[in-house]
Amino acid sequence: MASLRFMGNWSSNITASKRNISLLLDGSIAMDFGPHSIESLLEMRVDPCGIDTIFISHMHLDHYAGLPELLWYRAIHQCREPVHIVGPRGIGNNTKSLLELLHTPEAFEIFAEYHEEKYDNATGFVANHLIRDIGFRLEIGGKVLFYSGDTSYSENVSKGAEKADVLLHEMTYLDSDRQWADFWKHSTVSDALRVFSESGSKILVPVHLTSKTERYLNETMEKDSRIRVPQGHIEL
Ligand SMILES: [Zn+2]
Repeated sequence: MASLRFMGNWSSNITASKRNISLLLDGSIAMDFGPHSIESLLEMRVDPCGIDTIFISHMHLDHYAGLPELLWYRAIHQCREPVHIVGPRGIGNNTKSLLELLHTPEAFEIFAEYHEEKYDNATGFVANHLIRDIGFRLEIGGKVLFYSGDTSYSENVSKGAEKADVLLHEMTYLDSDRQWADFWKHSTVSDALRVFSESGSKILVPVHLTSKTERYLNETMEKDSRIRVPQGHIEL
């Protein structure tokens, strides 16, 4: 059994009271870490020093910019257990450059280890986005979870999510906005459902929402018992 909570579930088109997509598994593993995820953790009464591993699907602001916030918090609170950061190739150098650009004080001790595209029980699958995006297949508490990050329809994601217990797939656009989905390399409702069907996953949790897709999910999709809304606490 594993538990899944949401630090945020939103796309880059941020709006009041929403936070960017970031997941918390079993209280110690994060998948993506958008801006203000640190506040979400503190509001959930989760100790940021207890975060052991963070998977970053890709290095766009809405999935990644909360990481320096977490690393600053951990330095200020003198968390000495290293946090393992798993992401696309270059994640180590990019994060170190970011910390430098943010004038991170030299006295801050940051305990982080970087891993490219795979780690322990997780396997990365390259998705199809504007920049390199890694979808992660992860085994936790005897359950298999797949998180796509940002992607247009991708056969590789379907393969990576094969027979997963839970598929977390981005759903940024309605099918009526297909031209924007293609331009920005995101998925529509149909794309997410196609991957759900092809992969044979048991449960679909659409994420990376906008006002339009959230409304569609609440009004139409949730009637299907295999589809869950990305909020609160989901026991896997
Ligand atoms: Zn995004």
